[in-house]
Order: sequence, then C-alpha cells, then structure tokens
Amino acid sequence: MNTEVTIATLGSHSALQILKGAKDEGFRTVLICLRKRLKLYSRFKKLIDEMIIVDSFSEVIFKEVQNKLLNLNSILIPHGSLVEYVSLEDIENNFKVPIFGNKYILRWESDRKLKDKLLREAGVRTPEVYSSLDEVNDIVIVKLPGAKGGKGYFLASSPEEIRKKVKSLKIDEKDIFIQKYIVGTPTYIHFFYSPLSDELEVISMDRRYETNSDGLGRIPADVQLKSKIDLSYLVIGNFPIVLRESLLEEIFEIGDDLIKASKKLVSPGFIGPFCIEGTYDGTGSFYVFEFSARIVAGTNVFINGSPYTWLLYDEPMSMGKRIAKEIKKALEEGKIKELIT
Ligand code: AMP
Repeated sequence: MNTEVTIATLGSHSALQILKGAKDEGFRTVLICLRKRLKLYSRFKKLIDEMIIVDSFSEVIFKEVQNKLLNLNSILIPHGSLVEYVSLEDIENNFKVPIFGNKYILRWESDRKLKDKLLREAGVRTPEVYSSLDEVNDIVIVKLPGAKGGKGYFLASSPEEIRKKVKSLKIDEKDIFIQKYIVGTPTYIHFFYSPLSDELEVISMDRRYETNSDGLGRIPADVQLKSKIDLSYLVIGNFPIVLRESLLEEIFEIGDDLIKASKKLVSPGFIGPFCIEGTYDGTGSFYVFEFSARIVAGTNVFINGSPYTWLLYDEPMSMGKRIAKEIKKALEEGKIKELIT
C-alpha cells in the first residue's frame, strides 16, 4: 500500500477509471464530488477513500478545498471537466496542489490559435483553413467563437450559405473559423508519453457516438430535405477502434512529432496521456483537427485494457492505471517532480 500520495480527481468525465487505476496500484484516492452527483459516485464507494463535496467544480481552487487536498498529499489528475469548468488562469496561477502532467499545456488545447500553432510546429497534416469566406467552394465546417465539443458548429458549401447562417446567429463574420470538412472516418488516438522512459505508447483508439449527426443516416434523404434538423455533435458514448496495422507507423510518427513540438513550445511538453482527433479521408490520408493534452473520455471504453495495451502489458491496463503506474514508478525512483506541475 502506497500511503505517501493520494490520487485526486473531479467526479466526472473519466473519474471512475482514474480511481480504479489508482486503487489497483495501491494508492489512496480522493474524489472532488458535486453534491448533486453524490448518489452516483456512492455506488462506486469501494474506489473512493475520501470525498470532498462541492457545489461547483470551480470551488476546487478555494483555499479550504486546496488545503484538504494538500493535507492528503494529493496529486490531481486533470481531465476534460477540469479544463471545461475551472478557470485555466486559476489553475496556472492560484492552484498549489500538484497536477499530474503539464498544466500549462491545457491552455493550448482550449485556444484555437495556440492549438493550430502546435499542430503546425509538429508538421502534421491538418484540414485547410479558409482565411476568407469567399474562398469557400467545398464542404466546410464552420466553428463559432467559443464553440466546444462540436456544439455551435455548422456545415456549409458556399459563401452565401455561411453569410446567411452567420447573420441569423448574429455573429461577426470575422470571428468564425472555417475549416475544410474532411469526409471520412473520424478516429481518436489515445497516447501515453512517459518522460521517465522517454517512450510513447498507443494505449487505445475510439470513435464517438454523437447525436444527432450519427442519427442522420437513419433518415432517408427526401425526409432530411424536408425537415429542419440542427446538426449537433453532442457525445453520447464511444466505440472501440483497431487500426489497420499498416496505419500504425504514421500514428506513432504523429505522436513523436507532437511531443517534440510540445517540448519546444510549452516546456516540459506533453506528460502522460494526450489524444489526437482526426479523420481518414477517402484516400486513407489522416487529417488531424484537434488534440487534447490530458486523458480523454474515449479511454473509458478500455477500463479493462485494449488490444494495444495487451501487447505491452501482461495485465489489464487502462489509461487511469497507466497514469497511476507512472506516478508509482516516479515515487520509487525519486523522480516525481518530472511528472507534476
Ligand atoms: P470536436 O470539437 O473536436 O469535439 O469535434 C466535434 C465533431 O466535429 C467531431 O465529430 C468531429 O469529427 C467533427 N469535426 C471537426 N472538425 C472537422 C473537420 N475538419 N472535418 C470533419 N469533421 C470535423
């Protein structure tokens, strides 16, 4: 039993596998839980040693919450809900609890310009971005300011269509981000980079099950044309994916390039889990349009391990457990400072 460090996380997103992984590796756990979700997480109480109850995740930066976490000698595992509900400025400047990974890179996944800069530095193939609306002559995806997780995106194929929609939404044309829409198979790759061994692992891959875009194919085209469906990409769940083995090489190269770019632009770069989101087009070329600099919820498909982790580990390995393993190794080797910020 490792009594030195407590693994902490927010009760949401991928918390259950983070807690399970921590427990499997012998750590104590603490869950920062919303009062309204107490009932849900109590069903998994065997994974939780301590609970800190809050009314909003933004309270995580309150002094009393931080003090509780510090007294438990916590390392906080960041996930999507931390990025979404807690001010990154507070995380960067006013949060004294050690965070697993590079907390300064979280901003780079949330800011479209910074994200674009890192992808460019890495030299990975990204969908064309249109600087002027009048250049549009193909299917594009229009991303509105502040839109996240596909909410507030729309598809169009001409400047007139975009103008009409932008006008109806009362948005300034200057503020929209227009990107070529890649028709193909969306694929999300979950990496783990170990600074301790300087090794990159592909942990797993998924595709999302999104409403209502994944429901459109169930409606005949003539009915679609007559109805007014507002496209949405709200994630409901995830499916596992296994890539053709010949595609793996490129994926590892993209991962290596991103690590190199991240080290240069936002030192110490990616630490632990990160993910790329992209689409294979009709020729099999992979276009990357997003990255996440922490664990993604698509890894929840693989709490009992994935085909890829089974190749590397003789035990079921989730991303949550992989994180705990890395922390345990760093503690044993006296290198924990290399993993936290
Ligand atoms: P995200 O904002 O990354 O959660 O993306 C929401 C949805 O938009 C996902 O289903 C993506 O597959 C889709 N998407 C975003 N950008 C593109 C693009 N350039 N081409 C095709 N699909 C895209």
